[in-house]
Amino acid sequence: MFAVHLMAFYFAKLKEDQIKKVDRFLYHMRLSDDTLFDIMARFQTEMEKGLAKDTNPTASVKMLPTFVRAIPDGSENGEFLSLDLGGSKFRVLKVQVAKEGKRQVQMESQFYPMPNEIIRGNGTELFEYLADCLADFMKTKNLKHKKLPLGLTFSFPCKQTKLEEGILLSWTKKFKVRGVQDIDVVSHLTKAIKKHKDIDVDILALVNDTVGTMMTCAYDDPSCEVGVIIGTGTNACYMEDMSNIDLVEGDEGRMCINTEWGAFGDDEALEDIRTEFDRELDLGSLNPGKQLFEKMISGLYLGELVRLILLKMAKTGLLFGGKKSSALHTKGKIETRHVAAMEKYKEGLANTREILTDLGLEPSDADCIAVQHVCTIVSFRSANLCAAALAAILTRLRENKKLARLRTTVGVDGTLYKTHPQYPKRLHKVVRKLVPNCDVRFLLSESGSTKGAAMVTAVASRMQAQRKQ
Ligand code: BGC
Ligand code: MG
Repeated sequence: MFAVHLMAFYFAKLKEDQIKKVDRFLYHMRLSDDTLFDIMARFQTEMEKGLAKDTNPTASVKMLPTFVRAIPDGSENGEFLSLDLGGSKFRVLKVQVAKEGKRQVQMESQFYPMPNEIIRGNGTELFEYLADCLADFMKTKNLKHKKLPLGLTFSFPCKQTKLEEGILLSWTKKFKVRGVQDIDVVSHLTKAIKKHKDIDVDILALVNDTVGTMMTCAYDDPSCEVGVIIGTGTNACYMEDMSNIDLVEGDEGRMCINTEWGAFGDDEALEDIRTEFDRELDLGSLNPGKQLFEKMISGLYLGELVRLILLKMAKTGLLFGGKKSSALHTKGKIETRHVAAMEKYKEGLANTREILTDLGLEPSDADCIAVQHVCTIVSFRSANLCAAALAAILTRLRENKKLARLRTTVGVDGTLYKTHPQYPKRLHKVVRKLVPNCDVRFLLSESGSTKGAAMVTAVASRMQAQRKQ
């Protein structure tokens, strides 16, 4: 009995010491409420800068008009195709919206590989590859005889002047395809599809994944007016009053704005909260100096941040008895899925030991506890930062509507949000703390980002049909 108590005491003490050690080492990554309120205020300023005509050209948060003006009203119907490029996987879908008068969405989809030769190759090859996959899908699903409307989910910043056109501003995440920047993605894809004489599609919409997520959620819950992605990359969109959008003619109604919040901080607005690890990660990335907010948040980067921290801690003798391994020295060896596994409620510590051992390290109990806490700090910071920017958007919505209290729904998608055991709970809690005058419902949209392009296309073709009447 005494021995058991002693063990428990020993373990509690060990844990306390390790947590203190890591907290001290990562002091700069633990953001206080005051800092979060401050970041929220800065993001509000950034949004205004992006929306106004004279400041937009130099704004890092681009606040891109999407030309999506209406959310689904339930009367949409028909069969639509959609392609989804830019998330963790490339996917082709057929979506059936409303069947026999029922408000429901059915989908059939197929994933296709996205080899490195393609995502680091040239534009013509990329679009020909997408067209080949589409043709293959239409053949296997017996759709070759049909002319179907298509929506393209393209999860990169695009400057749009209408729904079915978008000029790529820059590649982000793992993509770096030559010869696509500054050109219209839709006409490039259309050209590639025309080479396939046996298929016929009509590209009606170019849609960011955040917009797709919002639209999918809005189909189930009409009060959804925000879409957030926390996956490989991160971003958000929301419905803005037309009267506040300088870049688009007209003052009536609302339009969805793709904030491209991943670029927050690219003008040094966040230098005071970035750490040496953020700087090192950025230098080793495909797009140094770009997407600095995203690099503190999204799935493509969290694992690497953890690795850089562990390496530094090992070097300074704070972990693994000062020993390093060649894997720990290798970029990309710790992924975000590992971070999620290490933070699991029950198996977390055992997972941590296994992961560290696989990296060629020999962790002690103390090391495992410390590493687990490093993961917690890194992923918590991510949730905190997302929460601060989201709180700024919610405040903006509330103020636009001149309400003392806002009740709204936020649609969310993305692998990090969906697979990290504690991420959603933390995010929701911090948002509620930052905007106590907003009642927020978070709606996870299963495949929302992908389905959404079909939803936008469905709305577009409903409106087209209405205009013809
Ligand atoms: C892109 C956004 C996208 C987000 C999530 C970012 O890197 O710039 O357009 O919405 O990733 O996929
Ligand atoms: Mg996606």
